[in-house]
Amino acid sequence: MSGPVEEHANPTSDFGISTIEVKEGRTAQVGDLSVLRVLPTKKKRTIGPWCFVDLMSPDDIESPPPMEIGPHPHIGLATVTWLFAGSALHSDSLGSEQLISPGQLNLMTAGHGLAHAELGVETAPAHETNGVMGAQMWLAQPEATRHGSSRFEHLDELPEVTFEGGRGHILVGSFAEERSPATIDHPTVGMDVILERQGLLPAAPEFEYAIVPIDVPVKVDDAIVEPGALAYVPTGFDELHLESKSQRARVLILGGAPLGEPVKMWWNFVARTQDEITEAWSDWQEHNEARFGPVPSSLPRIDAPRPPWLRETS
Ligand code: MN
Repeated sequence: MSGPVEEHANPTSDFGISTIEVKEGRTAQVGDLSVLRVLPTKKKRTIGPWCFVDLMSPDDIESPPPMEIGPHPHIGLATVTWLFAGSALHSDSLGSEQLISPGQLNLMTAGHGLAHAELGVETAPAHETNGVMGAQMWLAQPEATRHGSSRFEHLDELPEVTFEGGRGHILVGSFAEERSPATIDHPTVGMDVILERQGLLPAAPEFEYAIVPIDVPVKVDDAIVEPGALAYVPTGFDELHLESKSQRARVLILGGAPLGEPVKMWWNFVARTQDEITEAWSDWQEHNEARFGPVPSSLPRIDAPRPPWLRETS
C-alpha cells in the first residue's frame, strides 16, 4: 500500500479524557481507493513502532473500485497486511508472489529498500465480496535493522487468544502466553480482537497502545472511540478496559515499547533525516535496481512526487 504523500493540516483533535486520548483519523486516497488514515495523527507520529495505519473499506460497496497499487518502493519499515474481506496478490522485488486472504498475514520488511505491488483478486462477484477490506499498517524499523536486508513472510495461520470478554488473533508479537511466529525487530504486539460487550485485557506496562475500532464505536476507559479514530493509551497500564454496545465489536490493538527516536516519514519512506529520504526518492526515480529491484507485476510503476523541499520556489 502506498503511504502519505505529505502532511496536510489534519483534522485531528485531542480530547483529554483521563489519561486516554482520542485521535481522529482522516480520509485519504490510495490509487482509486478511499481509505481511513488512523495513524499518523498530527501530534502522534508513532505508537510503539507503529507509524502508519490505513483502514480500507470501499465507499461504494455495490461496485467497489479495484485495488490496484502498482510497483512502489519502501525503506525503513515493515508493512503488515491484514484483510477483513476479499483477497489480494502481493508481488515484490525479492521475487515473492503471494495471495493473501482474511485470517492470513503478510509481513514485508523493507530495510534498506525494496519494491512491491498489490492487486485485488476477485474470488467472487464484487457485489458479493464488497471488494477488499482490511488494514495496511507499517512498523517503523529501529536503527539496528533499518539499513539491513529485506524479507517477506506469509503466515497462513496465527495464534488465537482468549481473554475476559473476547477473543482474537495475534498478528505480530506476543500476548499472554502466545506469540506470533512473524519476525519483529522491536518489542511489539498487534492483535485483531472481537469484543463481546466488555473486555478486560492484560497489558504490558512498558508498552503504549493504539486501540482502533473497526466496525462500531468502542469505549476505552471513559473515552468513546469511533471507527476511523484511535485511542492512545500511554505506558504504565497493566490492563485495558474496553466496552461496546455491540455483542461483536471488532478492534485492532496495536502496541509496543516507544521507539525512542523520532522518525521522518515522507511518501513510502521511513527514515530519520530528510537527506535519507531525498536519496531514496532519487534512487527510485532513477530506477536504481541495486536498491529497488524489479517487481513481477503487470501494473504500472508508481512515480514518486517531488519532495516539497526540492521544489523550486521561482
Ligand atoms: Mn506499499
